[in-house]
This record gives sequence, C-alpha cells and structure tokens, in this order.
Amino acid sequence: MVSVEERYEHLEKTIRGYNISADLTQIRAAYEYAREHHGDQMRRDGSPYITHPINVAQIVAEMRLDSESIIAALLHDCIEDTDSTYEDIAKLFGVTVADIVDGVTKLTRVKYSTMEEEQMENLRKMLFAMSRDIRVILIKIADRLHNMRTMEYQTPAKQKKKAFETMEIYAPIAHRLGLAKMKWELEDLSLKYLDPVAYDEINRKLAQASTEHGQFMSRVQGEISTRLTEAEIPHATVYGRVKHPYSIYRKMYLQEKTMEELYDLFAFRVLVDTVPDCYNVLGVIHDIYKPILGRFKDYIATPKPNMYQSLHTTVIGEEGIPFEVQIRTYDMHAINEYGVAAHWKYKQGIKKEGNEADYEWIRRLLENQEDADAEEFIHSLKVDMFADEVFVFTPRGDVINLPAGATPIDFAYSIHSAIGNTMVGAKVNGRMVGFDYQLHNGDVVEINTSKTAHGPSRDWMNIAKSSEARSKIRQWFKRERREENIAQGRASFENELKHVGLTMSQITAPDVLPSILKRVSFQSLDEMYAAIGYGGLTALKAVNRVRDELLQINRAAALAKAAEEAAAKAAQEAKAAAQQPILPRKVKSEKGIVVEGLSNCLVKFSKCCAPVPGDEIIGFITRGYGVSVHRKDCPNAQPDHHVEANQGRWIKVSWSDDIRESYTTGLEVVCKDRANLLVDISTAVSTCKVNISNLNVHTTADGFAIFHLTISVSDSKQLDQVMRKIHQISSVMKVNRPAG
Ligand code: MN
Repeated sequence: MVSVEERYEHLEKTIRGYNISADLTQIRAAYEYAREHHGDQMRRDGSPYITHPINVAQIVAEMRLDSESIIAALLHDCIEDTDSTYEDIAKLFGVTVADIVDGVTKLTRVKYSTMEEEQMENLRKMLFAMSRDIRVILIKIADRLHNMRTMEYQTPAKQKKKAFETMEIYAPIAHRLGLAKMKWELEDLSLKYLDPVAYDEINRKLAQASTEHGQFMSRVQGEISTRLTEAEIPHATVYGRVKHPYSIYRKMYLQEKTMEELYDLFAFRVLVDTVPDCYNVLGVIHDIYKPILGRFKDYIATPKPNMYQSLHTTVIGEEGIPFEVQIRTYDMHAINEYGVAAHWKYKQGIKKEGNEADYEWIRRLLENQEDADAEEFIHSLKVDMFADEVFVFTPRGDVINLPAGATPIDFAYSIHSAIGNTMVGAKVNGRMVGFDYQLHNGDVVEINTSKTAHGPSRDWMNIAKSSEARSKIRQWFKRERREENIAQGRASFENELKHVGLTMSQITAPDVLPSILKRVSFQSLDEMYAAIGYGGLTALKAVNRVRDELLQINRAAALAKAAEEAAAKAAQEAKAAAQQPILPRKVKSEKGIVVEGLSNCLVKFSKCCAPVPGDEIIGFITRGYGVSVHRKDCPNAQPDHHVEANQGRWIKVSWSDDIRESYTTGLEVVCKDRANLLVDISTAVSTCKVNISNLNVHTTADGFAIFHLTISVSDSKQLDQVMRKIHQISSVMKVNRPAG
C-alpha cells in the first residue's frame, strides 16, 4: 500500500522531470489545502479521498501541463465536496486557478440522465462550451480517467452508467483533442464494464499468447533495428505492442471475425528525428517485409483533423503474420499521444492574457491543416468555443441546443409549440425566472404550463432569439387571434395609408376593390388585415401594393375617359351634321341597289350568296368590277373576313323601292332519296310561280339526294314561300340558301 505522502512525492518527481521552473511551493500548498479540506473523506476503496486529486494531478503531470493545471487538479473537488469556496481558492492560488477549479466543478455538476444517441453530440459540445479554458476539459478528462481506473469499487449500475458516459462523451472528446493515449485507456476501461465477457475473453487470449507475442515482437523489433542501423538512420527508437483490447474488439465487431481471424493484432512504432528520416524508414521496412497493397497511409502529408501525424503501413513478416508499422518523428509522437495538451505546453512561453487567446492558437493550428475534415472540426470548435450556442437541460435530462442569448420562451417552443403556447412561468435550476431570462450552459429549465393560459403575448416575438420560436408564435397569432389580428392589422394598415395620403373610401370603392384584392393576393380586406396582424405581411408592403394598383387603375380610367370624350364629341358632330337640312335627292338605283354615297356605279350580285330583295345586304367595292353585293349573313361578308387591305372597301348598300326585276338565287335541298322527288320539287316551285333555270342532283352512298336549284324570285318573301313549299314535300329534310 502506497502512502499518501509517497504518492505526492511521485507526483513532484514527475513534475520536476519535465518542468524545472514548476512552482513546487504552491503545488505543495495546494496539496495540503486539499488534504486538509477533504479531511477524513474516504474513497469507496477505503483509501483517503486525497489520493484521488493526487492521482488526477499525476495524470495531468503526465500530460506535462503547467503549474496552474497541477494546482487546479489537486483542488478540483474542493468546491464541490468540501466547505472551500471560489473566493478562498482565488485568494490563495489566484483567479486563474480558481476559474479552472470552478469550470471543472460545473462540468462535474452536469448530470447525464439521457443516453439517447442524438443527445451525445450535444453533450460533447456542451462540455466544450462550458470549458472556457482548455485546461478545464483536460483536467476533467484526467478526473474521469482516474475514476474509471478505480471503478471496480462502484455498484454495477454505476459502473455501467459511467462506462457508457465515458465511451460516448469523454473518449470522443479525448479523441477530438488528439489525446490518443487517454482515449485508448478510457475506451478499454469502458469496455470492461460495458461488455465484460468480451473484454475478459480478449484479455485472456492476449495473456495466453503473450509469450508467443513477446517473442514475435522482439524478433521483429530486432530485425527492424538492425536494418535501420545498417541504413545509418540516426536516433531511431523501435518498439512493438499488441493493439488495445477495445481496438481488437471493434475490429472483431466490424469485420465479424474471431480474434484468431483478425488481420493485425500487432503494431510497431519507429520514432526518428526528422520527416525525411520517416520516409527513409518506410523504404527500409518495405524492403524487409512485403507491404499489403492499399494499407499505406500518409498522415504526415495529410494530418488527421485532430492533429495526428504519422506514416502507417501494414506488412507481412516471414511467418505470414501481418503487422502495422507506424513511423513518425519524436515531436509528432508527443502530439499524437497528448494532442492539444502537448501543443498547449509548447505555447505557454508566448501565451497572451485572456481565454480567447488560448483558443486562437488551436484554431489557427487547425486551420493550417489541409484535410477536408479539418474544416468541419474547426467549425465545431468555433461553435463550441466561441459560443454562439447555448446548451441547456430539460428536467428529464435531454440537452437542448439553442442560439446564444436564448430565453425560456425559446426553450419552451423548442420542446413543442403547445408548451410555448400554454406557458405561464419558467424555472431555471429550480428558481422562478422572467421570460426574458438569458439561459446559460448547463441550466436545467422547467416550463410551467396551464390550460387556461392566454397564449403568447406579442412582445414574446421580440424576446425570443430563435427563429423557430418566433415562427411558432406567429403561427399561434395567425390561428388563434383572428379578430384581434384583423383589428390590429386594420389599424396599422390605415395608419400607413394615411402616410401615403390615401383614404379607405378610395380603396373600398366597388369598381377598384376586386383588383386591389387581386394585387395583394387576398380574398377579402379582413384576410389582409389578419395577415398584417399576425406579422405575415407588413402594413407598409400592403399599402405600397395597394397604392401601385390604385395608380394603375386611375391611369387606365383616365385613358378610358379621354377615349369616351372623343367618341362623344364625334357623335355630337355627326348628329349636328345629320340635323342640317338636306334637299330631297332622287337616288338612282342600279339593278334595284342603292349604293350609299355613290351613283351610277356598276352593281353585281355575288355568286356565293345570291341575295334577293328583302335580304340584309352589304356592298364591296371590287377592283374594276363595281360594287359586289353580298348578304349580310354571307360568310364572305363577315367583318372578321375583312382583311386589312380591304378595310374601307365595304360600304352600305340597300334595296331601292322601285324593284321590278327578278333575282337569281340558289337553293340546296337535302332529301332521303326516293322515286319522283325531282317531279315533286319542280311542281312545288312552279306553284309559287317561280322559274327554275337550273337543277342538278347528286346522290350519296348512304341513300341521300342533294338537289341544287337555281331559281329567279322577286324578293325574299317569295323565296321563303318556295322554301316552305319544298320543305313540306315528304322525305325533304333540309332546305338551305347556300352561301360562301
Ligand atoms: Mn474528481
């Protein structure tokens, strides 16, 4: 059993080993302060409590951190577990140490009551966000590592819980910070409690084969060393190791293989001074052993996001046993084992004041890496460390991720809109707070709701920081408060309207309202008011659209009015002209046609429609053949047939009163074919005292007969009579005047 004092001396020795200027007086003072304050508290294994902080400080010293880190590690449980306070520690050991201890305490107080997969990244981020100083998280990892090492004295339930947290939260953080050594140990210790059967089996098999493994490893180590000496590569260190149990476990699981089938259990490391030496060593290794294709990785040229640098290659030895060789410089090795901690140590000499500067170098370091993943990593560090997010707990222990400055309103709406809408109060860490309270990392937030709640108030929109909360509040107003929205929307609309000098009556006029509503895309003014009321549309925007539409309507109205006035004027002039007394004029007709405004002009009847007196007619001034007269219903005389070029050639014509001639026109008679039709039709026509000048017939395949008659009639009355007569004949179906 090692005494407390011996443990402490071992710690001092470790510190002296890497930091000759360490403040050993203050470190001892911290040790004594902690020992005194923890008093007779005991660990579960029966040892004095102080052994825990000493061991944590030991791990921190192995990371080669500075005196303040060692002091803070020794004091890390004082605020949480003893009557010591932040002020005490600040007075005795300085504000920096007190801040670190306070930070570790806050992380310790975080209770992980949820173990859901999607919560884990949030929890990891939260721990980063809460660690204002990178040393806080390094000490916390050391604390967790020591607790995991001594976990066997805890209850099985606690072992499982802590092991799970460690596997899901602390090991990934250690990995992210490049603390490879601690990551492996955390994972191996977690596996021991999470899957004890597999863990024991792996260890048992490793132990069984350890002599064999040892012989193999020392033989390979010797071979490599000899060849490196021959190749005159200076200061090379070669050593072999069996891979970690968790690494073996993962490979077995992922590749679904037994341990015996596993590809490579062994890894060798070659440490050298320079990067060129690394590549020289690689050449030597590939010369001795056969490399496996596709297994070479150059993490020197392309470091991993967590700063890891090394050459990896897998080769096959004489016995056919594959093994991995990792080649790196001593500097790379320090960083690979201790990650951020190693960098942190190097940076101390030129460290600036303030926490921001502590992170700045990490950021720059990471930004210098070209790996694509690095960018993502930088982003996560930025988010975490430069805090534009805040992480809080639900009473159940779920972590909710909100924008920095978020309030209980944001929290409530992020849980569910129904929670936000019925919220009547909020508690943070058990105390009532106002709705505008700004949440801090690690706060436990509880929302009180009531079924009789009035719902959100409009100023919540200004208090809420997240767009999610704001949009849900807006939704509520849209749905729940239509009347209120309409009133409020109408008030602000009318107010805006005044600004542009318009009145409501200008808008509600029945001739403009429909097009205004169409312009603003609402069915009614109330709907528009409601939208303005809940914030879906600003009053200003609505008024601008309405004004634009009104301007357009007014412009159109002005044009229409001008056109109307012009037409009225023309009509008046025409009327005035008509009222002027004119001398009765004998109008001379040609073939019974009077052409308006023209006399003695040539008139002919169009063949297409063959008008007869009594038909409504219209004339067309042909080129060189006088006026051709059509029936008004003739397709050739339809206004839409008036081609542009012929515009103005259509003139009014009318029948004169003194018609004596007869007029030739055509009829088309459609009949069901039968005998004696021809006789019946010609008889019908002649009983009307009308002459047939031509008649032809053709029959169709489906039993119809179509007659075309050319007849001479005096007027349309007589023609109607003929048509009626023909129609009365049995089997006649249709009598037409063809046109067109
Ligand atoms: Mn502790």
